[in-house]
Amino acid sequence: MILLLAALLALYDVEQGSQTYIRNITQRNSTAELLRDVRSHLDLVENRLQRIVIEPVQKDVQKLEQALTQLSLLLNHLKQLLAQDDSRESQAIANQLQADLDRLHRSGMELVGLRTEVERWFPAIRQMREVTYPHSQAALNQLDILLAEVDEELSAEQRLRVVMSVSTLRHFWSAMASELRLFVSNRFGVFASDASVGMRSRFTNVIYYAEEVKAQINTLKALHEEGLLGFLGAESIDEVESRFTGWMRGAYQISVMLEGSGWRRDVVMLQQTIDPLLEQMRQRLRVINSDSENQSAADITRLTNMARQLTLTMGAMALFTIILVLLAYIFLNRTLLKQIARTALALKQEAQGNLRIVPPPAKLSEMRDLVEAFNEMRRQVHMRQKHLDHMAYHDALTRLPNRVLFRDRLEHALQIAVRDGRRIGLMFMDLDRFKQVNDSLGHLVGDELLKVVAERLQRVIRGSDTAARLSGDEFAVLAEGINDRADMIPLADKVVQALEQPVCIDEHELRISVSIGIAIAPEDDHLADDLIRDADTAMYAAKKQRGSAYRYFAQEMISEAAESLQLENELRQAVEAGQFLFHYQPVVSLWSGELYCCEALLRWRHPTKGLLSPAVFLDTLDDTGLIVRVIDSLLDSLVDQQKLLSRLVGRPVALALNLSPRLLNDPPFCRGLLKRLLEGQFQTGSLILELTEDTLTHELAEANELLQQLKNLGARVALDDFGVGQASLNHLRQFPFDLVKIDRDFIRNVISDSNDASLVQAIIHLAHAFDMKVVAEGVETKGQLAFVQNLGCDFIQGYLIGMPLSAEQAQECAAVDQASGGLFEPTEFLVD
Ligand code: C2E
Ligand code: CA
Ligand code: CA
Repeated sequence: MILLLAALLALYDVEQGSQTYIRNITQRNSTAELLRDVRSHLDLVENRLQRIVIEPVQKDVQKLEQALTQLSLLLNHLKQLLAQDDSRESQAIANQLQADLDRLHRSGMELVGLRTEVERWFPAIRQMREVTYPHSQAALNQLDILLAEVDEELSAEQRLRVVMSVSTLRHFWSAMASELRLFVSNRFGVFASDASVGMRSRFTNVIYYAEEVKAQINTLKALHEEGLLGFLGAESIDEVESRFTGWMRGAYQISVMLEGSGWRRDVVMLQQTIDPLLEQMRQRLRVINSDSENQSAADITRLTNMARQLTLTMGAMALFTIILVLLAYIFLNRTLLKQIARTALALKQEAQGNLRIVPPPAKLSEMRDLVEAFNEMRRQVHMRQKHLDHMAYHDALTRLPNRVLFRDRLEHALQIAVRDGRRIGLMFMDLDRFKQVNDSLGHLVGDELLKVVAERLQRVIRGSDTAARLSGDEFAVLAEGINDRADMIPLADKVVQALEQPVCIDEHELRISVSIGIAIAPEDDHLADDLIRDADTAMYAAKKQRGSAYRYFAQEMISEAAESLQLENELRQAVEAGQFLFHYQPVVSLWSGELYCCEALLRWRHPTKGLLSPAVFLDTLDDTGLIVRVIDSLLDSLVDQQKLLSRLVGRPVALALNLSPRLLNDPPFCRGLLKRLLEGQFQTGSLILELTEDTLTHELAEANELLQQLKNLGARVALDDFGVGQASLNHLRQFPFDLVKIDRDFIRNVISDSNDASLVQAIIHLAHAFDMKVVAEGVETKGQLAFVQNLGCDFIQGYLIGMPLSAEQAQECAAVDQASGGLFEPTEFLVD
């Protein structure tokens, strides 16, 4: 801004100055022109004067006056012009010029006057008129008087001599005067530069005659002394002589006059007054001109100086600007650019993971902010990186190491174990029925359960052991530094014990069991992945057992696992091929002995292995979800069978269908079932749905609603395998079952085990208390029959009264039953 202002000021200054100077110069140019004009008019005046000197023509006189007037106007104009100028001197000179002009005017006019009056023009003529001529007249008069006075007494000869002498004198005087006149008039004709040559000869004549005159005067004097001249002679001679002397003096004066330059007054005036005056005026004009030129030159110099100064100023400013820019750049570079570059470098290094580069301390506060922001960002990034790293290696939910980290540690532990010749143990565990918990109670509960499991796991393992969550409900524990397999038993026991403790989440009390597979390195395998696979395989073997269990890995398990995989494949094909069917096992009323219902039990007609029971394939079928398709495809046959059996028996015979949690949680299947009921494919009460307790463990509310809907449409609901599950009493209370089926495990020992006996008794009482009928399953002996019958059990199911039969066999039996008036003779079983 300052620079700009300075530049503008300088520019303004120069502009103003240059304008003034240019105006001055322009003015001076007109002055010069005017001066030229004045000069030419001066020339004109001179010219006119010279012409007038040569010949005073009236026309030239007028022109002279015009030129003088013009000159006066020009001078006035000049004065005005100069008045605007600074030069006082010029103004003074102009005033002097004016005065000069006045004088010139006067002199000019005087010259004109001079030229027109001859006597004034030629002073010699006046001299002649006023001096020589009067002397001549006087002398000649005196001579006349002398003649007249000549004495009469004189002899003639004497008289002649006197007359002769006087006449001669008169003659010579006249000649002398005449020569003088000629001398004077001769002057006009001689305009040679050296007029004296012609003039001198003429004056010599004058002198010659003057000599003669003088000689005659002497002769006269002699005559007088002879006494020839009378009384007044001496006086006259004296008079003549003095006149002669006067005349001669005058003549000499004229001679001098004519031989000198002043013979003409006009020329004299021209030379002595006018020419100097003109010269003086010209000189003055020159002074003014040169003064004006000097000033112009000074102005031009000043203008040039100004331009130079401006150039210098501009140059200085440009230099200053460059320096300023340079300084600014240096400053910027030091305070900003370098910082930015180094911060950028730090950023780049940071991005490449080099954490040592730190942005330099900043000088500028903005830069400091930037660096601080960078450091803050770096802190945050590191924190997040740490967090991400942690996340990458840890399970977000349980905060346990994840599979990646676990595998890493396992690998590391394996190396050390191999090096030190020690063993490590790997426990692979999977929670039982976790999926059901998740599906029925929701993921939040599932997550909580997993967290509890993780906490408990960490609590029971040693500090040197690693617990990890591998996926979903799969956990693993790495135990380092063990000596042999047996060392894993206490750990496995502790884990099982810890996990079997009931878990309370919200209002739910959950009991979980865990299946554990154990593998030992280096015996089983010495590669991490192989070891994990081994423990996983062992875990699957453990899964086959009810409740919590652990199994050591054994090589044959691999083939078992392979078999299970093969089974899965076979099952898929079997589903496609429709190799599934129902067998029907009768359930008989202990009160009437009549067939109450038949339970539909799934069978697989294996192309090579024959008819297979659910124990072989049901878990896999359920795990893969194939069960839904299988049961769905068999529902039509179930409907037909129910109708057929009812017709054959002659009264409605119900069919019991087992619903696994999988089926109950499959909306399309449930909708299909509801639809069939709605369409009346099953008559009221002719469909019994059997659910195990774990179906009810989770999402009870939803299950309840569905069951209620099914019940409303005429289905009946039975609680299957009662007594095996958990919180059984709760379940009885929570849903209005029509039937409770006591698990065959209890029935089996009912005679031998008093605990079981009292449990069965309690169940029957309880069920009746809730207004539910009771079915005793797996009744194989009459003893068992009698026992349950005594306790008031309502129905029995078991090999004692009927094996599961094919549909056709069941129909045949029904027909026989109809024919015999009851397949199962109640009296046969009734205890009195
Ligand atoms: P469950 O529901 O408890 O079915 C009764 C099982 O007890 C049947 O075995 C039956 O053959 C057997 N049983 C009956 N009376 C006796 C007896 O006196 N002694 C002994 N030891 N066993 C007896 P099965 O057919 O092998 O079925 C086993 C389990 O498979 C069933 O137990 C049931 O939970 C499941 N299951 C069978 N069919 C289906 C089905 O269609 N769907 C579903 N979800 N599960 C089914
Ligand atoms: Ca059943
Ligand atoms: Ca059962």
